[in-house]
Amino acid sequence: MLSHNFPCLLILVLLVSPVLEASVISQMRPRRSILRYLGDEIEPPDAAVELNSTNFDAVLSNSPATYAIVEFFAHWCPACRNYKPQYENVARLFNGPEAVHPGIILMTRVDCAWKMNTNLCDRFSVSRYPMLLWGPPIKFASGKWDPKQEKNEIHSIDDARTAERLLNWINKKLGSSFSLEDEKYENENTLPWNASDPELISRAVYDVEEATTKAFEIILEHKMIKLDTRSPLIKFLQLLVAHHPSKRCRKGSADILVNFDDLWPSGLLPTGPHAASISKERDGLKGFWICGKEVPRGYWIFCRGSKNETRGFSCGLWVLLHSLSVRVGDGESHSAFTAICDFIHNFFLCDECRQHFYEMCLSVSTPLNTTRDLGLWLWRAHNKVNERLMIEEKDMKTEDPRFPKTIWPPKQLCNQCYFAPSSKSHGAALLDWNEDEVFKFLVKYYGENLVSSYKDSVSDSRDGESIVDDMAVSTNAVAVPVGAALAIALASCAFGALACFWRTQQKNRKQRKNLSKT
Ligand SMILES: Cc1cc2nc3c(=O)[nH]c(=O)nc-3n(C[C@H](O)[C@H](O)[C@H](O)COP(=O)(O)OP(=O)(O)OC[C@H]3O[C@@H](n4cnc5c(N)ncnc54)[C@H](O)[C@@H]3O)c2cc1C
Repeated sequence: MLSHNFPCLLILVLLVSPVLEASVISQMRPRRSILRYLGDEIEPPDAAVELNSTNFDAVLSNSPATYAIVEFFAHWCPACRNYKPQYENVARLFNGPEAVHPGIILMTRVDCAWKMNTNLCDRFSVSRYPMLLWGPPIKFASGKWDPKQEKNEIHSIDDARTAERLLNWINKKLGSSFSLEDEKYENENTLPWNASDPELISRAVYDVEEATTKAFEIILEHKMIKLDTRSPLIKFLQLLVAHHPSKRCRKGSADILVNFDDLWPSGLLPTGPHAASISKERDGLKGFWICGKEVPRGYWIFCRGSKNETRGFSCGLWVLLHSLSVRVGDGESHSAFTAICDFIHNFFLCDECRQHFYEMCLSVSTPLNTTRDLGLWLWRAHNKVNERLMIEEKDMKTEDPRFPKTIWPPKQLCNQCYFAPSSKSHGAALLDWNEDEVFKFLVKYYGENLVSSYKDSVSDSRDGESIVDDMAVSTNAVAVPVGAALAIALASCAFGALACFWRTQQKNRKQRKNLSKT
């Protein structure tokens, strides 16, 4: 028996050994840090992300950061050990949920002394320790570095001996004024962008992923899936499967939809006061991450406020809704409108917000027949909220000083959206909008500019082309009929594997049924 299986076992061992090596390494480190935590001196966890040959390409190709720094070091090298606190001082500014300036630079390190990383370090011509390289994350993920190569977006950082010198180098490169003394939310003016920056929306896809994940976390945490909310949730998931701007959220939503009946069987869903007793297991997503395992990241980029309590989730939710509204086809616009209204009504826990929004939904008397109707309706609805909050937030002093509410889009973003000077009034209703131009602008802003850069596999990015516009997959995708997971799969050939999985599941289910009958 054993000899019969030996070749398979050998192959299996060979296949999993690098993974085991990586997991052994990663298991060793937290234990050491737990020991450090138990000691008198409490050391915070490392801010720089430790990468190795198994996760290097994937982490860098999926990072929302605009730039990355990779420190190549060897754990036996004394100079590297001494350098670590300097590097960490800078990394704490940019990495992780507690970062002072998140989403700008991903700071990482690779230990070249591990055998598994030898090829990776060779790929980047590592000739000394520590050695720091700078470049766009995707260029690291797909590329290599050679000091003799002239045209390369990856550069060596030659003056980084201390934290101050490294930060000076970064500031010179970016024209920024980051300081080691920066505290969270205190120096937002040093950010190299502002709310009217037309480029900024291209990074909002990360916030849309964050908001989608947050919305589903809230739904599960608050046990909001009940008999009467089941159908609105399914309809919203169908909308996400076909039109979410992020490919991985489309996949994740399809995955949840395919398994929805198993996760939350309608016959077992209680209503009323007993709703809270739904079993804990079924409440967890049980391994389903709606936008992939990397999300939530714990911070916002486009929707980052200058205070802890401003912007964030509700901003991300608006951006998600707008991005959906410009992606649906004409034929589906009214059902998309209903799905959005019902989702907010049933699942947005801000009571005042959902009530106001639902009132606006109920006031629609004629069907929204086109994408234009839906896109402009949502834009008007959002401006009505802005108009009210402009006054409320000023009175109550709750506004984010860096992002005061305005009637949107401002002229800096879309001059052609206005027919006449906007000085007539502060009210959206009295402004003379050129709605054809507004719609064109919405389509460009929330459609073309807000796309996912995520790739299925790193090999997709090997050629160095960075952002692939996957609008083609999401725009004008066919409407997804209720419960027909196969149609979801057909809506995008990218979901072929999922369809296969679904069919296998159906087969297994049938077989199980037949077996239980016999
Ligand atoms: C459905 C919904 C209803 C809400 N209702 C209320 C409410 O009744 N009371 C309340 O206090 N808060 C409400 N909120 C929260 C509030 O609207 C803001 O989201 C929050 O105050 C954060 O504001 P922000 O500055 O990040 O910009 P947000 O208003 O969240 O907008 C996010 C981004 O969308 C863009 N944008 C702004 N206006 C428009 C527009 N008209 N069309 C397209 N894009 C636009 C801008 O780039 C902006 O930065 C609601 C949120 C949602 C999602």
